Amino acid sequence: MRKNVRSLLLQSLTAALLAASALSAVSTTGDQASASAKEGAHGATNTARITTWPVLKTGASPVLKTGSQGTAVRTAQHLLAARGYTVKADGVYGRKTAAAVRSFQQRANLKVDGAVGPQTWSKLTAFTLRTGAKGPAVKAAQLQLGLRADGVFGKNTKDAVTSFQTRAQLKADGIVGPKTWNTLVNRTAPARPAPKPGATKPATSSAALAHQLLNKHGITYARNHSETVDFSSTAYQNIHDMAKGIGAATSGNSHVGRKRVQLNSDMLRALITLHDKYGYKLQISEFVGGVHGKNSRHYRGLSFDANYINGVHVGSGAPHKNVMKLCTTLGATEVRGPGDPGHNTHIHCAWK
Ligand SMILES: [Zn+2]
Repeated sequence: MRKNVRSLLLQSLTAALLAASALSAVSTTGDQASASAKEGAHGATNTARITTWPVLKTGASPVLKTGSQGTAVRTAQHLLAARGYTVKADGVYGRKTAAAVRSFQQRANLKVDGAVGPQTWSKLTAFTLRTGAKGPAVKAAQLQLGLRADGVFGKNTKDAVTSFQTRAQLKADGIVGPKTWNTLVNRTAPARPAPKPGATKPATSSAALAHQLLNKHGITYARNHSETVDFSSTAYQNIHDMAKGIGAATSGNSHVGRKRVQLNSDMLRALITLHDKYGYKLQISEFVGGVHGKNSRHYRGLSFDANYINGVHVGSGAPHKNVMKLCTTLGATEVRGPGDPGHNTHIHCAWK
């Protein structure tokens, strides 16, 4: 009983402290918002009024959520610390970070989803930083600038800000306001993994081939997987993403995790030839999605699986041998089908 009373007391004390730090953080924001109003340097009259994160040509601001890792996460964690939350800036978006984000979102009248998207970035970065500023918000800016995050806005930081602004064609005043924050966060969005050298031809030609394939009505694409649920990496989604030029997504449940790869142009050309020249109707069951062998060429965008040929399921009378032979003729160096382990109901053709 006594213990309970003590823990209750502790709880309310913690709550009071949290409320106090929340208040101080809010008033800090207020000051900085008015400082920015005086500045006018970033075209904003009041940082508190910015509710939408301007969209830049260089890409969207990274959306962080539970499981995200990396510099952008550390930056968000420093910004949360600057708002009075005790979050370790370890670059791993875990339960504590998500809880702090939810609490911050509640305070900032944002949708409470525990993820840092454009709106939350916009509010989290509502600090105007200039020479003399100190603390975790400075660390956040320094991280995004690629500097050592010592939390002191000195000459080095100012020079780095000015040169960043010049390169980004912003007003080079050495002050980090909304536009500079926005550009800093967007510029350091996690880059898409580069395709492995030799594994792929230029993206543009593969994208164009994917586009051509979408106009071949004899070739269809599975909209689900046999062994996992991930609609963003189905053959259907893969080919559409390729045509859009963003690369095909592997499954987060696979050996390689979630990433984007280019579909090999020789493979795509072979599919067009199978359709146009040889008149085959195929249903592609997988490109890079799904779960395959650990070192599968699927994960590198080099193979397709097909489970229907001319409307007949592979293994149930489909002319799989003919298509397999043609795959080899068209340059495939790894061809499997009924009779090979794990391939009784589909064929697999892979290029190098
Ligand atoms: Zn396969």
